[in-house]
Amino acid sequence: MSKKKFIILARVNEYKMRDLNPHIPFTPEEIARDAVECEKAGAAIIHFHARQPDGAPSYEPEVYLDIARRIRERTDLIIDSTLGQNTIKGDEARSAHIVRMGEDPNARADMAAIDVGSTNLDVYDAANKRFETTEHTYVNTVKTTMFLAERMHANGVRPHLSCWGIPFLRQVDALLDMGVFREPGFVQLCFSGGGIVGGHRCTTDDALAYIRALPTSKKIEWTVNGKECNLLPAATLAMELGGHVSIGIGDYEYAELGYPTNGEIVAYFAKLARAYGRELATPAEARAMLGLPPLDRAITRVAS
Ligand code: ZN
Repeated sequence: MSKKKFIILARVNEYKMRDLNPHIPFTPEEIARDAVECEKAGAAIIHFHARQPDGAPSYEPEVYLDIARRIRERTDLIIDSTLGQNTIKGDEARSAHIVRMGEDPNARADMAAIDVGSTNLDVYDAANKRFETTEHTYVNTVKTTMFLAERMHANGVRPHLSCWGIPFLRQVDALLDMGVFREPGFVQLCFSGGGIVGGHRCTTDDALAYIRALPTSKKIEWTVNGKECNLLPAATLAMELGGHVSIGIGDYEYAELGYPTNGEIVAYFAKLARAYGRELATPAEARAMLGLPPLDRAITRVAS
């Protein structure tokens, strides 16, 4: 029997600056260019954050619309937006751009990330034995999660369930039970490095414990990502155990691989997945696996 197709989600920029890896895309055009490269390299989904030209976060719905239109025009990628991570306050404000994108058939997000729980984001500076901050929390109450899920479903957007630790998976299970999230759930297991001690380490032991804690009674597709850490230990387990990978220079600069571009890092993990016997899912195949409707293209794709 052939193995399950492998879904690569490209995490192109997050809120990373260019001090370590200069290839981080900021502007809508830069993000769209990376989208084209990532699709060519084997990605099926693109996840991005709107940025200002100097790299600062942008909260303008129009910037999100501009990015999504450009991606839709040049690729078939599944569009997975952020809700602003922990930089926007208030449930309405966090989802405003998702609603606006939904009003334009050429810029509608297919998915958006919901973090299914709260965590501390304070960075520990081990060399100096101190925390850089001591009150940096990322709060996502059950009420917030339910509000965001309902708002997404009402706008035809599929929640992408981002988890920072094993207890988040129990919350995913409960919310799937309630029907707040729908099956198949798309669960992202986040690992953290760079002094962010609020998540699991990206080691084989941590990854195995995390993967074994996935709800077994629900239909789930799962993927792994590494905030500020090299994803290889978890990624290779995902390749072997039927999971998927969310990879990009937005998460980590990959000095080990010579500071690649997003297209290059996607190509690297695509090659590795094939070596594990996992053929890559096209965007259309990934849509079917994740329970998304087929792409209803309101604009013609232009050559790129
Ligand atoms: Zn993100």
